[in-house]
Amino acid sequence: MNSSTVPHDQVAIVGAGFGAIAAAIRLRQAGVEDFVMIDRADEVGGVWRDNSYPGAAVDVKSHLYSLSSAPNPDWHNVFARRGELYAYLRDVADRFDLRRRLVLGCEVEEMRWDGEEQRWELDTAAGPRTAQHVVVATGVLAEPVVPDLPGLENFEGPRFHSARWDHGVDLAGKRVAVIGTGASAVQFVPAIAPTVAHLTLFQRTPPWIMPRHDHEISARTRRMFRALPFTQRLTRAAIYLRFEWMIVAFWHPRLMRIAEQAARRHLRQQVPDPELRRRLTPDYSLGCKRILLSDDYLPSLTRPNVSVNTDGIAEVTARGVLDRTGVEHEVDAIVLGTGFRTMGLPLTDRIHDAAGVSMRESWGGRPTSYLGTAVAGYPNCFLMHGPNIGTGHNSVLHMFESQANYIAAAVTYARDHGLAAVQPTRAAQDTYSAEIEAMSDGTVWTAGGCQSWYLDEQGRNVNIWPGTTFGFRRRTRSFDPAAHLVHRPLPKPAAVHVSVAGPIEEPA
Ligand code: NAP
Repeated sequence: MNSSTVPHDQVAIVGAGFGAIAAAIRLRQAGVEDFVMIDRADEVGGVWRDNSYPGAAVDVKSHLYSLSSAPNPDWHNVFARRGELYAYLRDVADRFDLRRRLVLGCEVEEMRWDGEEQRWELDTAAGPRTAQHVVVATGVLAEPVVPDLPGLENFEGPRFHSARWDHGVDLAGKRVAVIGTGASAVQFVPAIAPTVAHLTLFQRTPPWIMPRHDHEISARTRRMFRALPFTQRLTRAAIYLRFEWMIVAFWHPRLMRIAEQAARRHLRQQVPDPELRRRLTPDYSLGCKRILLSDDYLPSLTRPNVSVNTDGIAEVTARGVLDRTGVEHEVDAIVLGTGFRTMGLPLTDRIHDAAGVSMRESWGGRPTSYLGTAVAGYPNCFLMHGPNIGTGHNSVLHMFESQANYIAAAVTYARDHGLAAVQPTRAAQDTYSAEIEAMSDGTVWTAGGCQSWYLDEQGRNVNIWPGTTFGFRRRTRSFDPAAHLVHRPLPKPAAVHVSVAGPIEEPA
């Protein structure tokens, strides 16, 4: 690489969604101004840019599902709709002067740690770049899963995934098959059911549904939040605390039975037909999969033009879906609400250490990290929404802001101590991973009797942070030198450039 022509930044953030923006704001607050944000799309927004399906909205109350550094007194609803969230993210990018740091429409193809120069080399669609630190904020829910259903490619009508909604296809008056009953499907099914001719929902596992109780936030309350910002902070704190204590039920699945009673009541009230109700009743603990909030999903399944198929899919034919009882359901379009490829985390197969080993290979099928953010052997590399960062009980943005604290602390520690690089020690990473495993044991996620995207094939929790979010905040507040290896800066020979790998030293 000809270093004189290659752009170099102190930090390269990959992505421009919530995680990337949280990291960028925190870096700025810590006095780190030399960073760039690279995203393959043409606008900021991450999942809220990509998921434009009808009915898309957040399922955590917006006054909590927003950045603490960027409060929005104007949330229109308790649970913001996708359009409002997308607008919020664009506005935050403006407010925090992030736009001039954006490199949009530019996919990062490979990243390699250069052990000689002690920095990252990035291959991007717009050419090579280098960076001292990289923050990989490509999100966990970025790569849609197209299920491996026999014959899917033979279907002659339109088919698309919820995260790549084809707005060019008018579903009104059409016969539509929906595959999947996760957080996305429970939102778009009630949105499209009234307009389609017939909707056949192929359910593999019924989700637990709790009441949502969404409503508009009154103009008076919004005025109060604007005039007296502390009232909004109090509201946020109250929502946070109400969610946070629920972690106790996730630790003790038996306590979940209380919440299950409320969900069963909701189901009874919304689905009068006992046979349909039986098929919609989960046989695993509430919380084992993501708890879904909806007041219109279950009623939509009772519509005369909606049928719920629980027979399993044998294959997809040219004209429809053949279930396992041999019945072919002819449809005009198929919508896949089949979730995301979460195992291995996006991009980690293209992040290489100095020896060329990808992060994913180094994990050997089991993602491990230190604080869900840094990985031993990959200096100066930080993963937003890395392993065990998801939450089942609170806002993931609280976790992102904690990660951002740690990242800013690590970058400024390296800067202030003249270090070329920092990375967690293997011992610190192993201790942290063992702790996660012990904490996950017996929780609703691992002992709740379901298979979810939170677990790997061996049933180990690789996605959820099993503790309190304030406990995670405490751990990520500062940089612990004892848990890290540091690389001293390289001596730069004056005349002849001789590359020497910087020694790795245990901190003093
Ligand atoms: P998901 O929760 O992973 O659900 C995927 C659905 O597809 C499940 O019902 C799954 O069945 C089914 N499925 C997958 N492969 C299948 C196959 N081969 N045959 C039949 N069914 C199949 O995906 P998602 O609904 O897109 O949600 C993903 C995550 O995104 C959520 O957990 C949440 O964190 C986030 N999200 C949040 C919001 C929000 O804030 N409002 C909205 C949408 C998504 P099984 O259950 O049997 O595996």
